[in-house]
Amino acid sequence: LSHLDAFTAERPDIVRWGDIGGLMQAKQALEESAVWVYKHADAYRRLAISPSKGVLMHGPPGTGKTLLAKAVATESAANFLPVRSADLIKGHVGESEKAVARIFQIARRCSPCVIFLDELETLFGKRETSGDVGKKLITQFLIEIDHLDTLQHTVLVLGATNHPESIDASLLRPGRLDRMVYVGTPNCGERLEILKVLQRKTPCANQVDLSIIANKTDNYTGADLKAVFRKAGLLTLKRRTHNTDSPLEVTQEDLESALSHVGPSRN
Ligand code: ATP
Repeated sequence: LSHLDAFTAERPDIVRWGDIGGLMQAKQALEESAVWVYKHADAYRRLAISPSKGVLMHGPPGTGKTLLAKAVATESAANFLPVRSADLIKGHVGESEKAVARIFQIARRCSPCVIFLDELETLFGKRETSGDVGKKLITQFLIEIDHLDTLQHTVLVLGATNHPESIDASLLRPGRLDRMVYVGTPNCGERLEILKVLQRKTPCANQVDLSIIANKTDNYTGADLKAVFRKAGLLTLKRRTHNTDSPLEVTQEDLESALSHVGPSRN
């Protein structure tokens, strides 16, 4: 299967709910629709409730969808099988369908497992506009998901997209990826929470006041705030190279100067 053979399930980076700033509703929805399936499989069976086969996360780039998917896997003590949808489409005719079958096979073998399909719109665009390869891929994927017994296999599919409107409706029918979770651009309070998460990994001077930064970062996503911290760290390093007595700590001034270099990726 050439390059498609590279799909493997792995232990995800250890991302816990507490490592994700804001997104309270998304975390809650994923806890109930995904993590519970792994944690309470027996209760589902006894109550004869069939869980969703999967959840579609949608929202602008850089808002934390990948992070949430990893957290679902960590919180569920499940393996993580990340798949970039674009990789599936690259192969020769016939190869892509085999790869889809293989992904589900690996996931069942590495159960409990979360299959994470990023950029889902590239795989699951509307059927009318998909070429032959695309149509076959969609069909194969639907076969796999329809045959998946979530409780028996303890495998769940998490999809992510920036363009939910371009996804073929067949995938979102009941019994397939029938839960949608919105992952939005953070408001001021959520930005403060994200900044606090980012601060845990970066030594900062005592006088740093992250609420000032949160107030000045309208329209910044989590990924943008990460870029601000990175730039601030580089400014700290630069100061240190000029003056070896300067502490290796990000200051308020570094963060504020970083804002003039790193703008919001949208708007
Ligand atoms: P894309 O749609 O571009 O794939 P995404 O929504 O999957 O983006 P992530 O890859 O999860 O976004 O986010 C990129 C990085 O930004 C993360 O690794 C993390 O460092 C940071 N980040 C984004 N959102 C948050 C958040 N809510 N809390 C903490 N860090 C965040």
